[in-house]
Amino acid sequence: MSINQCTLLPGRGKIHKSFHPWVFSGAIATPPISVDPLLPVQVFDADGTTLGWAQHNPNSKIRLRFLSFGAGPEPDQDWYKQTLVDALERRTELQGTKTTVIRLVFSESDSLPGLIIDRLGDVLVVQFLSAGADVLRPMFIQLLRELAPAHIPQPFDLKAIVERSDGDGRRMEGLPLSNGVLWGTLPEVHTVRENGIEFLVDSDSQKTGFYADQRENRDIVSRWAKGRSVLDVCCYTGGFSAYAAAHGATSITLLDSSAPALAMAIKNIALQSIKQEIPVETLDKDAFRELRKLAEDKRRYDLIILDPPKLAPTRASLTKAATAYKDLNLNAMRLLGPGGLLATFSCSGLVSSEDLRTWISWAAKDLRRRAHIVEQFGQAACHPVPLHFPEAHYLKGFLIRMID
Ligand code: SAH
Repeated sequence: MSINQCTLLPGRGKIHKSFHPWVFSGAIATPPISVDPLLPVQVFDADGTTLGWAQHNPNSKIRLRFLSFGAGPEPDQDWYKQTLVDALERRTELQGTKTTVIRLVFSESDSLPGLIIDRLGDVLVVQFLSAGADVLRPMFIQLLRELAPAHIPQPFDLKAIVERSDGDGRRMEGLPLSNGVLWGTLPEVHTVRENGIEFLVDSDSQKTGFYADQRENRDIVSRWAKGRSVLDVCCYTGGFSAYAAAHGATSITLLDSSAPALAMAIKNIALQSIKQEIPVETLDKDAFRELRKLAEDKRRYDLIILDPPKLAPTRASLTKAATAYKDLNLNAMRLLGPGGLLATFSCSGLVSSEDLRTWISWAAKDLRRRAHIVEQFGQAACHPVPLHFPEAHYLKGFLIRMID
């Protein structure tokens, strides 16, 4: 066996024959010997069948991440180029004059493990979240410069490629934090559009600057905004609120623990062309405490958006997360009268739709109130979920109508 080959234990190859991309350390019989991290490894089942080529990282719990499946040749620069083109082309219909902010590459879902690329107008924001993606950064930057102009629909004029790698992802791979401009000149604050709604984004901010995974959900929720007072909990830069303002909400209350996010949210609401100015209130507070306080103060809203950060980062945290989600939803429901609407989300990959529905139902039961599920939410089409990799489905939610 050559140095860049690896064999799995008996019975552990089956899920990879149906394209599951992750191999944990416990499934490996013979690891590759002193592997150059630049080289993908060829993975074999215990019976000798070739399973495919994978990135290898001995410092990560996810030891192997498949790039390609079956007996094909080792992925080379041409393979990466074609795989990147395929990812870009799958998003053609999702962009245009109305939408210029989108996820272009979604890691394992696009057969490029550890690589995230977001488009924020004319700026590309990349994250290298696996060792295998990290070592290839010069190649990816070169390929992006070459491919983006031809494969991203107009209007598009590449100004900069910037790195904003997420801290947690890199830490789990044993990689140092890494941020900065990789190519071009970064416009400080610029405008992007989503479903025709304008937003200011700061590609220099901590995160990737905009959560494109909520695109379709913002559109759906905005259909219910007309004539309603809105409370946007964990609003970030006001994604849902800007839509709600453009669609006739009567007032907006923004709640987030980040002051810069709130400041940007106010600007984003002001960008919308609204016939009559509407009152906007900001609460720079912790959502858990503030929702309880608002309920004690007997405040009322007609439509609440509740989009907290990941509350279940690990399996061990699931029980605590159940209580946290229930608590947030319970206090949100206390702010809604009969007919009130709650758009509630979880972006924890480990929390299923069924888990979230159960915890919300506990909240309604404690309050002795009936409620309906009016809509069910997932993640936007630029964050596809491979049929054989349900782990990619992290965003879920419901639109709940309080009956009494
Ligand atoms: N709804 C937003 C995205 C939300 S991201 C959109 O459509 O763009 C999660 C947000 O929760 C972040 O802005 C973060 O600042 C905020 N947040 C995290 N913990 C919080 C807490 N305890 N209280 C209030 N906001 C919190």
